[in-house]
Amino acid sequence: MCGVVGIISTQKPVAGELYESLIHLQHRGQDAAGMMTYNKRFHEKKGTGYIRDIFDEQNMARLQGKVGIGHTRYPTVGGFSVEEAQPVMTHVPHGIAMAHNGNLVNYNDLVNEVNEQDHRLINSSVDIEVILHIFAHALDHPKTDIKNLSFFDQICQAVDTVFHRASGAYSVIGTIMNKGMVVFRDPHGIRPLVKGVRQNNDGTTDHIFASETTMFYALGFELDGNVAPGEVIYIEENGTVHSRTLKNEQFTPCIFEYVYFARPDSIQNEISVYRSRLRMGQNLAKRWKEQYPDITPDIVIPAPSTANTAALSFANELGVRFSEGLYKNPFIGRTFIMPGQEIRKKSVRYKLVPQEFEIRDKKVLIVDDSIVRGNTSKEIVRMVREFGATKVFFVSACPPVKFPCFYGVDMPTRGELVAAHRSVSEIEEYMGVDILMYQKIDDLVEAVTRKGEHNIDRPCMACLNGQYITGDVDEHTMERMERQRNHERSKQK
Ligand code: SF4
Repeated sequence: MCGVVGIISTQKPVAGELYESLIHLQHRGQDAAGMMTYNKRFHEKKGTGYIRDIFDEQNMARLQGKVGIGHTRYPTVGGFSVEEAQPVMTHVPHGIAMAHNGNLVNYNDLVNEVNEQDHRLINSSVDIEVILHIFAHALDHPKTDIKNLSFFDQICQAVDTVFHRASGAYSVIGTIMNKGMVVFRDPHGIRPLVKGVRQNNDGTTDHIFASETTMFYALGFELDGNVAPGEVIYIEENGTVHSRTLKNEQFTPCIFEYVYFARPDSIQNEISVYRSRLRMGQNLAKRWKEQYPDITPDIVIPAPSTANTAALSFANELGVRFSEGLYKNPFIGRTFIMPGQEIRKKSVRYKLVPQEFEIRDKKVLIVDDSIVRGNTSKEIVRMVREFGATKVFFVSACPPVKFPCFYGVDMPTRGELVAAHRSVSEIEEYMGVDILMYQKIDDLVEAVTRKGEHNIDRPCMACLNGQYITGDVDEHTMERMERQRNHERSKQK
């Protein structure tokens, strides 16, 4: 999972605002980050770790220009080194830089094609480099005589080539030297990409594109909707906007953004993430009352902090006291996106401290956003028992995660997913809880799509139901990709 942002201004340098934006996207990836701007040449800075540790006054001063892109990374493909950080660039044609959020299903095939057919070198293992080279090659080798084509028409042809060759999820922001910014989103719109505008005193407009709306208010941008699935937008340096939808497919944005990834103050695909989480809690509570009418917990505790919102509405709906019975140290990163199983396990106890007065001699119900590997949940249950709970109930706002994600979220193999090969009662036993209850898939979809002027056909839920919208993930492909991911993980240990 990653966060991506691009800003194009007619008036002022963008590096400072890109930095602010990356801070507001830090929750989407803490492994590496990068920024690239241009004036007469490209300027870049990349590094590993937190945004605040990568960029300083000196390197920020170098990042000149009124057009730029930024990226914060957690790898789902590729390694953990600075060489794998984005944005990436190519000199031919024009000089193009790109960053994205997503993952390609046919990455390996495309690497071979790009090397052997297009004679372009892929110099990293990040899939945006493949997209960049397909785009650049198509722009450099147009299908038709460019005499009759505008530059935007040429861009559309190149993006169309990407859409036809690249299968998977990709929300891409790029800059083209001396031209402007180009933005496109895969035809299913799996990964988010919002857009915003800001009026300048001289009547011109600045534009921002980002994975989330989280920085819009601070930077003075107003939400201007989403980049549509299959849409390409090109903004010239003078602010002229061109846009076209090249491919219409079923719109299937990732449901896990609402469950876990997005910040609660985000609006994605015209849906408030915060409100959707409140509805998840409501729906869960209704199910609890149906299934366990005679069992009422003494307190409801969220597994902080993504689950806070769902836990609050769950407790309200049930008429039970909401308690912050687990204190979260805010200076330790999110365990789910920390690489490596061992680091994740250890970090739970550093990160969460149970409050004995809230827990001792009580029937405790814990609400979590999801249970992916199960390590964090199991550890939380153990801690709550150690602090004297008489009963521990556990509810998950997300249904069982049973399948890997091939669209950009770090759920790599079935072997790592606690629900892939276990029944609910087996997971209950594994976690050591008295009752485990998951959200139903229909209730989750209802919670996400109940309100908002959205036009979602159906959300992507491949990690829950195994239905991969791109249509090219069967059992054989899944096994091959899982083997490859296991191999990559073993190299990182
Ligand atoms: Fe999101 Fe799951 Fe689809 Fe991946 S498989 S894009 S995590 S809903």
